[in-house]
Amino acid sequence: MSEPRLHSWSTVLMGSPIILSLLIDDRDLAGRVFRLIQRYEDALTVNRAVSQVMAINHAAGLHPVKVSSAVFDLIRCAKEASLVSGSVFNLAIGPLVKLWRIGFQGNRIPDRDEIADRLLLTRPTDVILDVADRSVFLAHAGMEIDLGAIAKGYIADRVRDFLRQQGVEQALINLGGNVLTLGAPQGTWSVGVKKPFAAADALVGVVEVANKSVVTSGIYERWFEQDGKRWHHILDPRNGYPLDNELESVTIVSGDSLDGDVWTTLLYGFGVEKGCALLRQREDIEAIFITKNRDVILSSQRQFRFTLLDDSYRVSACTA
Ligand code: ADP
Ligand code: MG
Repeated sequence: MSEPRLHSWSTVLMGSPIILSLLIDDRDLAGRVFRLIQRYEDALTVNRAVSQVMAINHAAGLHPVKVSSAVFDLIRCAKEASLVSGSVFNLAIGPLVKLWRIGFQGNRIPDRDEIADRLLLTRPTDVILDVADRSVFLAHAGMEIDLGAIAKGYIADRVRDFLRQQGVEQALINLGGNVLTLGAPQGTWSVGVKKPFAAADALVGVVEVANKSVVTSGIYERWFEQDGKRWHHILDPRNGYPLDNELESVTIVSGDSLDGDVWTTLLYGFGVEKGCALLRQREDIEAIFITKNRDVILSSQRQFRFTLLDDSYRVSACTA
């Protein structure tokens, strides 16, 4: 049988390259997908003056702001993830993200005092939700919600729902590292796992999946160098500095991309050992850890197959 022909469209949204691949040549549908992504970005972004999330941030310390049910649900989910015991995921990390500006112009190592001051404004419990009113109130002036770690996952899930509604059975959408697959043309889709700090197209390996999300979060995506050290964009809300441990990237295979986004950040904070232990209780979430020592550690392989492509890495499984 000949290979099915893929039709792909790309654009840039949310500061990231976006690629949609379909088995049908439907430019109009691709346009509608990109407009859907744009609408969600307009509601969730904190990189422009106006959005629903920015309306909440501008009203910090002043008054609650009513938002759409989509935005409210995502913020509620982000708050829950922030309150998991030992979580480094923090939806109120905004003041620190804005201070470091990692990945944006003007990035720099802030003074210790500045970091200490901002840390006081990042308590997730100070994000006050009113379910009945669908409103969000930030208890102190200067607080800022930042959904940068999970917005792409949430939006990828909405794109999947939209494509299903349109009767599309096979598709792949890549939102700058959040890959979501529907069906599979020949049994599985192949999704590359990038080699950290290497050429853009260099891969450590390939994941084969169908109907799954594959999300990678790595410290090699956005960073700057100062004082002989790399400072990357995943911040540790316990001390206000970029997270520092044995990991270079975490890939999550899961049903929903939102779960993938939450878990990449959670596991990045927990590290390999604790991460492996936690995943034993979650059959639906599977991880591929890549360490600075070039170990590739798989929690399990129920929903995917992993093939190593770079033999300077060693593959192993989580130990019990
Ligand atoms: P990418 O945008 O490269 O896919 P991630 O999904 O890893 O990155 O999310 C990183 C972004 O999440 C940062 O740019 C910032 O906006 C936000 N962020 C940084 N640290 C945290 C944290 N501890 N908890 C929640 N969000 C964070
Ligand atoms: Mg993420």
